[in-house]
Amino acid sequence: MAGEELTVLRHCQKCWSEIGSYTVKKESLMLHTTELVWCTTCGAFTRESREIAGRQAAILREISTYPKP
Ligand SMILES: [Zn+2]
Repeated sequence: MAGEELTVLRHCQKCWSEIGSYTVKKESLMLHTTELVWCTTCGAFTRESREIAGRQAAILREISTYPKP
């Protein structure tokens, strides 16, 4: 559905602590990123993992899979 907003959770890929979350329009969703983010737990820049929160997660996980530790 166009215009629908999703909540995306951001986690550190090293320690899996939550970095934050943001909302994004479904059509501009981008889960795969090469950006580095600052993780306060690791005390270093790290890759982030993005995951859709809520009821959309199960549906979209089918098409936006990524490796989990
Ligand atoms: Zn971390």
